[in-house]
Amino acid sequence: MTKKQKKMLTRILAAAGGFVAVALLDHFGPALPAPYWPLYLIPYLIIGWDILWKALRNIAHGQVFDENFLMAIATVGALCIGEFPEAVFVMLFYQIGELFQAVAVGRSRRSIAALMDIRPDSANVEREGELLEVDPDEVEIGETIVIRPGERVPIDGVVLEGSSALNTAALTGESLPRDVAVGDDVISGCINLTGLLRVRTTKAFGESTVAKILDLVENSSTKKAKTEQFITRFARWYTPAVVIGALLLAVIPSLVTGEWAKWVEQALIFLVISCPCALVISVPLTFFGGIGGASRVGILVKGSNYLEALARAEVVVFDKTGTLTQGVFNVTATHPDQCDKARLLETAALAESYSTHPIARSLRDAYNREVDEGRIGNVAEIAGRGVKADIDGVTVYVGNDKLMEDIGVKWRPCHRVGTTVHVATGEAYLGHIVISDQVKPDAREAVAALKAAGVRKTVMLTGDSPAVGEAVGRELGLDEVHAGLLPADKVTQVEELLAGKSPKGALCFVGDGINDAPVLSRADVGVAMGALGSDAAIEAADVVLMDDKPSKLAKGVAIARKTLSIANQNIAFALGVKAVILLLGLLGKANMWAGAFADVGVMVIAVANATRTLKTSNDEKKGR
Ligand code: ADP
Ligand code: MG
Repeated sequence: MTKKQKKMLTRILAAAGGFVAVALLDHFGPALPAPYWPLYLIPYLIIGWDILWKALRNIAHGQVFDENFLMAIATVGALCIGEFPEAVFVMLFYQIGELFQAVAVGRSRRSIAALMDIRPDSANVEREGELLEVDPDEVEIGETIVIRPGERVPIDGVVLEGSSALNTAALTGESLPRDVAVGDDVISGCINLTGLLRVRTTKAFGESTVAKILDLVENSSTKKAKTEQFITRFARWYTPAVVIGALLLAVIPSLVTGEWAKWVEQALIFLVISCPCALVISVPLTFFGGIGGASRVGILVKGSNYLEALARAEVVVFDKTGTLTQGVFNVTATHPDQCDKARLLETAALAESYSTHPIARSLRDAYNREVDEGRIGNVAEIAGRGVKADIDGVTVYVGNDKLMEDIGVKWRPCHRVGTTVHVATGEAYLGHIVISDQVKPDAREAVAALKAAGVRKTVMLTGDSPAVGEAVGRELGLDEVHAGLLPADKVTQVEELLAGKSPKGALCFVGDGINDAPVLSRADVGVAMGALGSDAAIEAADVVLMDDKPSKLAKGVAIARKTLSIANQNIAFALGVKAVILLLGLLGKANMWAGAFADVGVMVIAVANATRTLKTSNDEKKGR
């Protein structure tokens, strides 16, 4: 509890004590010439002075209708008609509710702050042979920083010297450490566990992973879910409507029956009951908790609207390479036509020197030699097909069947299952390299879990050949596979799937962020995975899975469903209880005590329910 909250607790205890003392005196005390009731004003003012003051100040500012106003007129009204204990009780209960809510919100904030703890305080930078401790913001790209065991990596970079294990748990929710050695990328926010690392920075702090993630989480509350927007709009109309309703309730039956005291009291009860705090507070808190809980397991959601859409996921579309498969290919065979094997691989690797595509990376790994950049010129990437480059002055093409058709070179099909990469000059076919990818270990489980969570259709879109696509699709139990697609065809496919789904369901596209930005943005929810260190993915997606496990998506859907169902429970519960008591109030059957319970009791229960979103994901984290 903060200092302010402790002070409030003291006030609550003092007022409650005073209230009980006065009530006891009132009932059992000796009869005195003067009545006891004015004593109730002491606990009333102890507990309620700030509410009265806020209500007055808001009226002066022209913002009449808020919950302070409702509480002020309800309790002052109760005092005026001689309902002293009720007035104190309503105020007391209201403040207890407020305190409870402040503590709950603070707790959610702190959970998210625990994630925010990834922000590094300083960086050790080498300048002119000396090690200086500076603000990470002051380190420039290309400088050398030193990270000791136990320290947090402050800025993204490449290891120059040393080897170590990194703990990425704060970013990915993954407890297994990740080994790094010379030449590997390190990502800011991870903790260096074992060895001293010298790292050359590749980004400024503001562009580093940590800064991006913090930015994203901090801004996630600006994108509101429909449920939240509904509540905001609802509250704006609701409060004035309630005040008018109360006025009518005080006046009309009184004119008919002449029982003014009775109906004024009913109107005041009506006011106490109708305070909308339970909804106004608990619904955003639910989403806040859901987003916070998801981020603790390495699922970053950029706004509650996306969390809501994730909960409605009906069609899930996957990209293949790097999403369902590891994107780490092994060269399984080389079939030279016009040259020897070594030259075939060398030509392909040189042409692929600058590409970030997983295929390119694997060819470079298989070649595994220093690349002489002087031999390469005019590199152009042809999305969904391959690359074109001048190697030793000769234009070569490296890519799939389609690329060969485009340049009109006669190619030989391959009898092996795997992704075929053809190599050709403008005139002659040099041969092909067969590489094979592996399905991720949790991909099958991910597809099954999504099905179990109620996703109607799982689809894979790939630029790879139909043979490979079908094989992967069968292995994973996907409903549909569309192969041989260019990036633009993937958009068309997604559009068709969007048209075919039910209006309430959402289409979710999962990719690795490499050349699938157009589809990511076209889908209802674009999910990028393996985002640790990939800016493009973090930027383009609505939901970011920090590690590259497709099964995280099913977990994300589960968290989203839970969040949404808790929000709906709260809405139904709060409105339901209020409706019942309002009805009793209209019939003259509810009293002030019931009203206070309907208001604050419901709020406390709703807020407690809301904080479950944060807790469940904690439990899941522990249970893993
Ligand atoms: P995926 O749907 O599998 O992620 P992409 O759209 O990234 O596919 O690529 C589709 C196909 O285009 C690949 O299977 C490959 O045949 C070819 N291709 C794309 N980029 C390259 C490249 N850099 N080198 C060789 N082939 C490539
Ligand atoms: Mg791809």
